[in-house]
Amino acid sequence: MSSSSVSAAPELCLVRYGELALKKKNRGDFERKLVGNIQAALAPIAPAAVERVRGRLLVVPAARATACAKRLQEVFGIASISPAWKVKSELESIVPLARTLLERALEERAGAGSVSMRVRVTRADKRFPLRSFELERELAERVLPGLSGIHVELEQPQITLGVDIRESGSYVYAQRLEGPGGLPVGTLGRGVCLISGGIDSPVAAYMAMKRGLELVYLTFHSYPYVGEPAKKKVIDLVRILSRFQPRTRLFVAPFARVNEVVRDAAPEGYRTILYRRAMQRIAARLGQREQAGAVITGESLGQVASQTVENLTAIQAATNVFVMRPLIGFDKEETVRLARRIGTFDLSAVQEPDCCTVFLPAHPVLRASIQRCEEYEARIDWEGLVQESLETAEQLNLSWGT
Ligand code: ATP
Ligand code: MG
Repeated sequence: MSSSSVSAAPELCLVRYGELALKKKNRGDFERKLVGNIQAALAPIAPAAVERVRGRLLVVPAARATACAKRLQEVFGIASISPAWKVKSELESIVPLARTLLERALEERAGAGSVSMRVRVTRADKRFPLRSFELERELAERVLPGLSGIHVELEQPQITLGVDIRESGSYVYAQRLEGPGGLPVGTLGRGVCLISGGIDSPVAAYMAMKRGLELVYLTFHSYPYVGEPAKKKVIDLVRILSRFQPRTRLFVAPFARVNEVVRDAAPEGYRTILYRRAMQRIAARLGQREQAGAVITGESLGQVASQTVENLTAIQAATNVFVMRPLIGFDKEETVRLARRIGTFDLSAVQEPDCCTVFLPAHPVLRASIQRCEEYEARIDWEGLVQESLETAEQLNLSWGT
């Protein structure tokens, strides 16, 4: 095979997963979930067959393997991806392909000085005449002559020329794309994510999905106090986030009644806290309906004046649902950096009013007391409000590729 006869596009993707290996007992479940998530992620690009082989996955798409490799960089649970080519399991076929891939990898790094490389052979086909380390040396000796600007380095090489030898054929690759890490979405169950149009909650959503939670999104919209553009902004944000899980739904729940009832029942300073307590009640109820055991928010500590330990305690006390705040340890700069990487920042940065800015107090309390919250709320018919909000909520299917 001459260099030119190796197709430019890879045929399949070799997928490595990191953390899954640690979860010995659940490994089967986790792998199955990852396989399902990979197939769902690739479905809008090409149908893909996925084979599990010795702690790795072979993803064979019917077409467009390069686009598929790129898409796999967004599937949680994946540590890295190598676009690969398949040839017969014999040196005469492996060597010219390996040589071509190495030349391409070198071209990509042109001008970077001498590039370090090693050959890494894995071998399921034990009938192959040479041992793995012998094959590695043999291959290096056959592919390197005549190439300049490259040297062998076994520790942390820049290029690993990988050869995976099996009875049915060998897979050869020289590129390694970073995966997002984390755990496959859905392996840790479900959560309701409270999403606003702000910078923080989309980032919190990303982090929760990264830890294996499948999210159902809930946003509150205070129509007519807040207009359609605010709602559209949240829908667009959720569309961006939808690429990280197989199916995505957004509930848009009306909130104006809550705004009015709270305004009439409590002093100004307590409004924000009572809005939040209401949000949490509605989220908890939706969670019961959707078998979601956790509520995720973009709250942090001290980011806005109202996010004090006392206030977060008062909000949390409204229900006994488990509230996750993935951003709790983040500086704003860290959140912004991640928002940029995810692709939500520019949209979040557009100013729109929010349901919490309705009847906004000039001086929100900094140390809310649970007892006072409960006193103000004593006259509120929560059951009725929660039900009304959920019953009239709009449900949107925003799954990726739809
Ligand atoms: P964000 O950037 O997500 O708006 P923030 O730091 O501005 O967060 P707040 O506006 O005080 O903080 O909101 C705290 C959290 O409450 C949000 O991260 C989000 O989880 C939830 N939240 C706020 N407004 C809404 C809304 N309209 N619908 C759903 N959840 C909301
Ligand atoms: Mg906000």
